[in-house]
Amino acid sequence: MKKTVVVTGASRGIGKEIAREFAINDYNVLANYNNSEKEAKELEKELLEKGCSIKIFKADVSKSEEANKMIDFCLKEFGNIDVLVNNAGISQDKLFTDITDEEWDKMMSVNVKSVFNCSRKALQHMIWEKNGCIINITSMWGETGASCEVHYSTSKAAIIGMTKALAKEVGPSNIRVNAVSPGVIMTDMCSYYGEETLNELKEETPLMKLGKVEDIAETVYFLAEKGGFITGQIIGVNGGMVI
Ligand code: NAP
Repeated sequence: MKKTVVVTGASRGIGKEIAREFAINDYNVLANYNNSEKEAKELEKELLEKGCSIKIFKADVSKSEEANKMIDFCLKEFGNIDVLVNNAGISQDKLFTDITDEEWDKMMSVNVKSVFNCSRKALQHMIWEKNGCIINITSMWGETGASCEVHYSTSKAAIIGMTKALAKEVGPSNIRVNAVSPGVIMTDMCSYYGEETLNELKEETPLMKLGKVEDIAETVYFLAEKGGFITGQIIGVNGGMVI
């Protein structure tokens, strides 16, 4: 039976490339999107033309009822779910003292509650099957903290805690839970960094370059397919920025 992956936030950036990586490696892919329907449809078309197995599903994964429907849809369409990649996320550049209640709550619900929602629902199936792999996308800012991104850094640190605790809880059911922690990867999310900041970040990075979406997608795929004895780990993919 073909393996199945669910990728949240697969309409753009890192998630889109993760969906591509699994699809070309013969997985069934359930690619989630929220607002970017056009981009999700383009991805679907691109991968169907390559003979891949992909379905797209609109859900705001910060809402448990929508996350539940997405996982149910995946099981109905593909019959299984082997890998869940919790990638959907938002960021914001703002002084800590200017962050509003709504902005704080949104950051936590999109970046943290979504991981809880999707993992809780997928685990019902994975625990029954005694098989599964969850990969959360955190950030190096969750490890080190970023000025003017305190709410973002907090949310990504929470994902690190969740990854470690959940790995201990579901390990005996043969389910691995890991996180990939990207450095600066060129996507829409970095659009608010000006050229000067991007050059500074490049210079601070030992490998003297910024990351590509492929760097993250290949690591996620490795963890799913080859990392049989790896669980509860936070894998930095950051060009040496955090050592
Ligand atoms: P991006 O280009 O802005 O894409 C974000 C994706 O998340 C989009 O597909 C978006 O879907 C989706 N999304 C946002 N809110 C959602 C929601 N409520 N429900 C479902 N999907 C939602 O960002 P990216 O750079 O690819 O980032 C992907 C992940 O990597 C994030 O978790 C981010 O924090 C993390 N990360 C990125 C970097 C970086 O430098 N780029 C570094 C470290 C960590 P729609 O457009 O369809 O709404």
